[in-house]
Amino acid sequence: MIDLILITIIILSVIGEFIIIYYKQKIDSIPVFSIFIPVFLVSKGVTDLFLISLLCLLGIIIFIIKEFSMNFDADIEVKGYNIFFKSIFTIFIFFMVWIFGVFFNKSLISFLAFFMIYSYLYLVFFVSFISQKFEGKLKKDLSAYLDKAVTERSFINDEAKNEILEKVFLNIIHSKTLFPYRFIFFEYYLILGCIISFYLYSLFVNTYLDLPMNYLFNSLVLVFILYSFSIFILRFVYNVYIFNFLLDYFKNLVDTMILGYEKKLIDKEFILLRENNSKLLNWLKYLGEFYSRLDDNPNYEDLYNSFYSILSKSLNFSRFIIFMPEREDNIANSMKAVFYRGIGKTELYTKNTAVEVVVNSLKSVYYFGGTVFSALSLFKDDRSFICSPIKVGNKLIGVVYISSVNTRSFGEEDISFVDLLCDKFAIMYILYKEYSKTLNMAIRDGLTGLYTHRHFQELLSKEIENAKLYGYPVCLLMIDTDKFKQYNDAFGHPMGDELLKGISKILCNSVKDRGYVCRYGGDEFAIILPNFYKEDAYFLAEEIRKSYKSLKKGDIEVGASIGVACFPIDASSKDELIKKADELLYRAKKEGRNRVIMA
Ligand code: GH3
Ligand code: MG
Repeated sequence: MIDLILITIIILSVIGEFIIIYYKQKIDSIPVFSIFIPVFLVSKGVTDLFLISLLCLLGIIIFIIKEFSMNFDADIEVKGYNIFFKSIFTIFIFFMVWIFGVFFNKSLISFLAFFMIYSYLYLVFFVSFISQKFEGKLKKDLSAYLDKAVTERSFINDEAKNEILEKVFLNIIHSKTLFPYRFIFFEYYLILGCIISFYLYSLFVNTYLDLPMNYLFNSLVLVFILYSFSIFILRFVYNVYIFNFLLDYFKNLVDTMILGYEKKLIDKEFILLRENNSKLLNWLKYLGEFYSRLDDNPNYEDLYNSFYSILSKSLNFSRFIIFMPEREDNIANSMKAVFYRGIGKTELYTKNTAVEVVVNSLKSVYYFGGTVFSALSLFKDDRSFICSPIKVGNKLIGVVYISSVNTRSFGEEDISFVDLLCDKFAIMYILYKEYSKTLNMAIRDGLTGLYTHRHFQELLSKEIENAKLYGYPVCLLMIDTDKFKQYNDAFGHPMGDELLKGISKILCNSVKDRGYVCRYGGDEFAIILPNFYKEDAYFLAEEIRKSYKSLKKGDIEVGASIGVACFPIDASSKDELIKKADELLYRAKKEGRNRVIMA
C-alpha cells in the first residue's frame, strides 16, 4: 500500500525539519506535513485511515518540537496558539483528503496535488527569499541608523547597541501586519499557480474531467497576464511606499529605545550614587575615628586595632591579618603576621599567595568568589578576599589581608575603601614610628642604647611610687667600672667606647626584662630592679661582676665595683636610695675594687 516514494518523502521531510531546526531557519512545516503529504497520499490512492492518522500525528509532533526548540522569544500562549491552529489545520486537511480519496474522484485530488507542489515551492523558496531580502535591507538600514545615532552618545556601548537591535528586529518579526510585502506576491502567484497547474494537468495527466476548450484557456491566460502585470506594478509602488514608511516607523522605535536605555542608565547611576554617598559618609566618619587615635602614647597594637575595627565596621569578613616585614633588606621573604583576627596560627606561608603578589606589584589583589577557592588565598576556605599594600608612595610598609568564607563578600568599591584606609594607615604608621624614634632618642644613651641619667631618675621615681602603692621592694645597683681610665689610656678612647658597649651588653643580658639598665654617667651604670629582694639583687650583682672577666684585654682586666641598696629597707626615698647605693659603691672601691657591697 505504502510505496517507496512516500516513505522517502516522509523520511526526507523529517530529516529536513531537523536540519531546519538545527540551523534555526524560520520555515514552516505546514506545506510538507499538512498539505503536501496528505495530498500526495490521496493522489496515490491511499485511503487507510490508520496510516493517515499516524502521519497527521507525526506532523503535529514535528510542530510541537519546532515550536519549543526554535520559537524561543514567544511566550507560552503564543506557542500554544501556534500549535493549536497548525494542528487543527493539519487534522482538517488530512480528513478532507481522506474524504476526497474515499468518496470522490481520485483525479480531482491529483489536480490538487499539482497545485500544492507548486505552492509549496513558491512559499518556501520564493516568498521566504523575497521577504528575507526586504527584511535584510530594513535591518541593514536600521543598524546604520543606530550606529549614526549612538556616535554622539558614548554611554551606548556595543552591548547596549546589540540589545537595542535585537529588540527592534524582534519587533520586525512580530509585526506581521506591518509587513504586507511578505505576502505581496501571494495573490499574483496563487492565480498564476492555479492556471499553470491546470495547464500542466491537462497536458500530462490523463483526465476524466471535461477540459475547457483551447479558446477559453488562451483567453484565460491573456486576462491573467494583464491582471498580473497591473498587480505587479501596483504592488511594487505600494511596496516601496510601505518600505519607507516602515523604515521611519522602526527608526522611531530605535530612537525611543535609545532614550529608554539612557533613562535606565541614569536611573542606575542615580541609585549607585545614592548608595555610594551614604557609604562615603560612613567612611569619613571612620577615618575621623582613625585619626583621633593618634595620641601621645604611641603603641602599634592600638594602631593595628583601630585599623581593624574601622574595617570591621564597614566590611563583612572572617579573617584579618596585617603583615609587616621582619627585615628591611628582604621584605618579600620576611613578611610576618603582626596582627590578626579570625586565625589561630601566626606562622603563615606567604609564598605564592596574594601577599607575595602584592609585595611584588604594590597593587591590591582580590577575589570576589566562585565555586572554587582562589589559588592565591591564604586559607583553603577563603571564598573571597582583598589583599592590599600598605605603602607610602612606592615604599611598602606592610600588607593587609581580609578574607571571608563566603563568596561575594566584597565588591569593587570595597577595594577602593581598603586602599584608602591602607594609605591612611601607612601615614599613621610612619608617624608613630618617627615619634617613637624621637622619644627614644631623648631617653636612650647614644653610645650604649641604655636609658639616660635623666630617664633613670624618672624611672626610679615611678618605680618607688609603685613600690609604695603595691608594697613590694625596689633594689638599686650602682656599678662603676674599675681601671677604666687605664683601659682608655692603653687602647684609646674608641676602644674604651667599645668596652662601654660590651659592658652594657653584659648588663642587659643579665637583667633581661627584670629591670631597667641605665647609664648613670661616664663608666658608671645603674640598674633598677622592681619587685626584687635584696638577696636576689646581690646574687645578680655577683653574677654581673663575674661576667666582667670576659672583658679582659691584654694585661688590663677591668672589673666592677657594685653597691646594692634596697627600698624601703635601706632608704625611705628615691634620693636616699641613690645616695645609699652610691656610698656602698664608694666603699667597694675603697675596699679594693671588683666586689659587691650590700647594705
Ligand atoms: P676607678 O677604678 O677608680 O673607677 O678608676 P677609673 O680608671 O675607672 O677612673 P674613673 O672612673 O674616675 O674615670 C672615668 C673615666 O672614664 C674618665 C673618662 O675619661 C672616661 N670616660 C667617661 N666617659 C667616657 C666615654 O664615653 N668613653 C670613653 N672612652 N671614656 C669615657
Ligand atoms: Mg671607674
